[in-house]
Amino acid sequence: MSDLDRWLDGRLAEIDSAHLRRRLRTIETAQGPVIERDGRTMINFSSNDYLGLASDPRLRAAAAAAIERYGAGAGSARLLCGTQTPHEELEEALARFKRTEAALTFATGYAAALGTIPALAGPEDVIILDKLSHACLVDAARLSGATIRIFPHNHLEKLGRLLAWARENYAKANVIVVTESVFSMDGDRAPLREIVELKDRFGAWLMVDEAHGIGVIGEHGRGLAAELGVGDRVEIQMGTLGKALGASGGSICGSRALIEFLINRARSFIFSTAPVPSAAAAALEAIRLLDSGEAEPLRAKLWMNLERLNVDARSAIVPRMVGDESAALGLSEKLMENGLLVPAIRYPTVARGRARLRVSLSAAHSAEQIDRLLAALTFPERAP
Ligand SMILES: *Cc1c(COP(=O)(O)O)cnc(C)c1O
Repeated sequence: MSDLDRWLDGRLAEIDSAHLRRRLRTIETAQGPVIERDGRTMINFSSNDYLGLASDPRLRAAAAAAIERYGAGAGSARLLCGTQTPHEELEEALARFKRTEAALTFATGYAAALGTIPALAGPEDVIILDKLSHACLVDAARLSGATIRIFPHNHLEKLGRLLAWARENYAKANVIVVTESVFSMDGDRAPLREIVELKDRFGAWLMVDEAHGIGVIGEHGRGLAAELGVGDRVEIQMGTLGKALGASGGSICGSRALIEFLINRARSFIFSTAPVPSAAAAALEAIRLLDSGEAEPLRAKLWMNLERLNVDARSAIVPRMVGDESAALGLSEKLMENGLLVPAIRYPTVARGRARLRVSLSAAHSAEQIDRLLAALTFPERAP
């Protein structure tokens, strides 16, 4: 055994004893409401495929046609050989859908964050994040070298004090407020209107990660900023193409100047091979379905399914708080024995002692599948 492996075994043993060990499980089927995992058939309440588009025949056909026409791989970064038609069409469609001047896509949402934040902020600048911001936003802020401040989740008063502090101490700095629209592990929403007012008052910029808002919230699924009528006041609108849109990739929507700047300065865009054309084509089809209203039956079904859970859900994510890590794991395992896949979410995804089950619903679930979940799991919590 190598010295490295001995060291790793020791660390893994620590992870095990804290009930925090994670393992890969094999899914032998397409993504959907019923999957085969490690040879077992399970009703899937763990995916972010909120509209069931990942296996939708229209997206499959769009991806297959793009493979026939453009091949399997993109072959280079987009600034090197050139940018293929599907990527360009996708960005035009995204900008139209989000009602922004322009859009830029990345290989993943993670890469979008990692490229964008360090392009806009450096060691002289200040980034203020909601405490529950996704890991990619935190990592991007750290990578930028900016001074980082965290405000308690959705705490406007503290955000206001941090903005005042930043303006007092860093008069010339870029100050960027970063938050999610729908929080990925809690399913609640950010008070975006109030945040927009605050950042405007202090001359800061706002970046909103709509990973769990797009497709689900707002007219035609344009997201929370659109629903609250503040889309044109959020300078940097981030999203993923891999969740409700059923494909893969990340996006930034905003002004033409922002997109031109990111093309020149976002390192995860410049130095990374373009996503495969079929992924862009599938995402483009998803955007087309949403923008045209063709996806409205799916969106209506998702919200009907959420109503059936009867938890006053504000998004497609319904957490069931447990607290203790091993208790959450135990509950999740018991549900699995019943053929229900509801993942236990633990540190470091959420804080220690804040372990939970995370139920996510899809338009593809049937009423009967939801009733089976309700029979196996009670929801004592009601969202505020
Ligand atoms: C999933 C997620 C991302 C990352 O998007 P990917 O396309 O999966 O890389 C970013 N932000 C939030 C809030 C997410 O939940």
